[in-house]
Amino acid sequence: MEISGPRGTHDILPDESPLWQTMETNLRQMAELYGYSEVRLPIFEHTELFERGVGDSTDIVQKEMYTFTDRGDRSLTLRPEGTAPCARAFIEHRIYNQAQPTKWYYIGPMFRYDRPQAGRYRQFHQFGVEVFGSRDPNVDAEVIALLVRMAQRLGIKDAQLRLNTVGCPDCRPLYRERMLQYLAPMAGELCNDCRQRMDKNPLRVLDCKNPGCQEVVKDVPAINSYLCDRCGQHFEQVRKMLTAYKVDYFLDPRLVRGLDYYTKTAFELLVPDLGAQAAVGGGGRYDGLIEQCGGPPTPGIGFAIGLERLLMAARKQDSAIWKLPPTMEVFVAVADREYDTQACLLLDRLRLAGIKADKDYMDRSLKAQMKYAGKSEARIVVVIGEEEIRKDSYVLRDMMQKEQQEVPSSQIIERIKSILVTS
Ligand code: AMP
Repeated sequence: MEISGPRGTHDILPDESPLWQTMETNLRQMAELYGYSEVRLPIFEHTELFERGVGDSTDIVQKEMYTFTDRGDRSLTLRPEGTAPCARAFIEHRIYNQAQPTKWYYIGPMFRYDRPQAGRYRQFHQFGVEVFGSRDPNVDAEVIALLVRMAQRLGIKDAQLRLNTVGCPDCRPLYRERMLQYLAPMAGELCNDCRQRMDKNPLRVLDCKNPGCQEVVKDVPAINSYLCDRCGQHFEQVRKMLTAYKVDYFLDPRLVRGLDYYTKTAFELLVPDLGAQAAVGGGGRYDGLIEQCGGPPTPGIGFAIGLERLLMAARKQDSAIWKLPPTMEVFVAVADREYDTQACLLLDRLRLAGIKADKDYMDRSLKAQMKYAGKSEARIVVVIGEEEIRKDSYVLRDMMQKEQQEVPSSQIIERIKSILVTS
């Protein structure tokens, strides 16, 4: 019986992985330009980390975690996101004792028991950044600008930035009261989840995807008039810097993060072309998170990009970065199997010289080898035959110029290199 991959997972096969590598290289380079260093953390963590660091009233913790008990009876969870593990490592390694801010980026698989559909998986990949230690609103603007510029770098032209502030534990209770007053007369029209959210986390009603709930909240009062002075000034400076960076955004009072340790700035990058799963990345400030995870009071802000969605949006664009290098540069063909050893030794020389080269291993005829080389898009085919062996030379065929020449063995590498630079 054939075994297929688990529901919600996907394979990245070799015809697609060069695109992933290009995307990842660009994201890494950009993060490094902005002063971030890579952190590599475990794929699984103690379940409690996510209960505390993501929040036990969130959908992620309540419905979507891959949690299991290991043989030592510990409850472990495949990481559903990257921020809580970063907070854990920041605290565990006492990074807060070093000069701040700390700027980290991470890349890797995340796991959520979500309902799979186009652009939504159970194992997917995220690229994320976190800045710990600074309250400066210019950090918020820089983090947001980085997200926008990453999408631009991959050629995405039609991304839209949603921006909001969610206040802080000082000013949010007032807004929460106001929201509850607004929602109360319409509670009957909300979904079951949202009726529960009204008790625990009314802000999260704003975020519900249910069309009925969206209708209820469409005229909800905006948080802006309830902000404390500090949150108001902070948001004003973030917006001022974004305008100065020429980063366009639209204010969306329904963009929220419901938990107490999320503070101030919240943002999301949308690519409307992607349809139902248009959110490519999102993030915000979480000045209460490190403390929530057991560390000293430390502000923080970050974002995570969904790489499947980013690639889907980027591939639709005609950008020079998607012009990938060939997988093979030189194909070594033999007129007869008896020259195989010479072919292997030539391959060794080519590869040691940094040239991508391969040969036939399927006992093809010379004609079939030439055909296979043509399909592989190798720029050069080197043919080894009886006469070449006798003269210690090779026949070199430039598949692009459709020219052929005989080259002495001692000059073959240099001659190949001089042709490849013209590719
Ligand atoms: P979040 O960690 O929920 O803020 O998500 C950040 C980004 O990760 C989203 O904007 C999506 O692009 C991506 N993402 C979240 N969940 C999934 C999923 N189940 N499948 C694919 N991408 C996802």
